[in-house]
Amino acid sequence: MIRKERKVSDMHNGKLLEAAVAAIREHADELTALDQAIGDGDHGINMKRGFDALAEAAGELERLELPAALQKAGMILVMKVGGASGPLYGSLLMAMGKAAAHPPASADDVAGMLKAGIEAVKARGRSDAGAKTMLDVLIPVLQALESHPEDPCAAAVRAADDGLEATRGMLATKGRASFLGERSIGHLDPGARSSALLVHAICNVLEDS
Ligand code: ADP
Ligand code: MG
Repeated sequence: MIRKERKVSDMHNGKLLEAAVAAIREHADELTALDQAIGDGDHGINMKRGFDALAEAAGELERLELPAALQKAGMILVMKVGGASGPLYGSLLMAMGKAAAHPPASADDVAGMLKAGIEAVKARGRSDAGAKTMLDVLIPVLQALESHPEDPCAAAVRAADDGLEATRGMLATKGRASFLGERSIGHLDPGARSSALLVHAICNVLEDS
C-alpha cells in the first residue's frame, strides 16, 4: 500500500523530538532537584511525563509538517503535564507552530517562531523577563538569533547558558518560587534549566545536519 503521509526528513522532525526527549529524560532528576529548592519538586516529573507522551506520539508527529507537528506537540503537553510548565510549554509550542513556515528556511524564520512562542508564554503566565522563569532563557535566545543570523546556534546556546546562570541571582516574582520571596535568590530556576536543555538538544541536531 502506498502511504500518503509525507515524511519531513528535511527538517529532521524525528531527530529533534528524539534529542529533546532524551535531554529531558536524562536530566529529569536534576530538574526535580532544582524545583525542590525553590518550588514543589515536580518539574522533572512534569517534564518527563510530557516528553514521554511526545515520544509515544512520535510516529504521528514525524509524519506531520513542522507547523502541525509543533501545534500537536503543544496540545499534548497541555493535556499531559500538570503544573505551570505544561500549559506554558504547550502555549510556546502551539504558538511556534502557528507562526512556522514549512520548512523554516533561515535563522530569521526560527526567530519569528520563537518570538510568537514567547509572546504566548508571556500572555499565559502574565510574565516577562526578569521574573526568574523560563522566559529568562527564551528571551535572550531570541535576541541571540536576531543579532547573530550568521552563527545562530552558537549564539543561542551561549545565550541560553548565560540566561540560565542569570536566574541564580534573580528574585522570583512569578510561579511557586515567588512564594519564597528573597529565599528564591541564589538558586537556578528549574524552568530556565529545562529551556536551556532543550535549546542545547535542538542546536546539537541542527548543527550536525
Ligand atoms: P509548578 O510550578 O506548577 O510546580 P513546574 O514545577 O513544572 O510547575 O514548573 C515550574 C517552572 O515554570 C518555573 O521554574 C518557571 O520557569 C516556570 N513558570 C512558572 N510560572 C511561570 C510564569 N507565570 N511565567 C513563566 N514561567 C513560569
Ligand atoms: Mg513544580
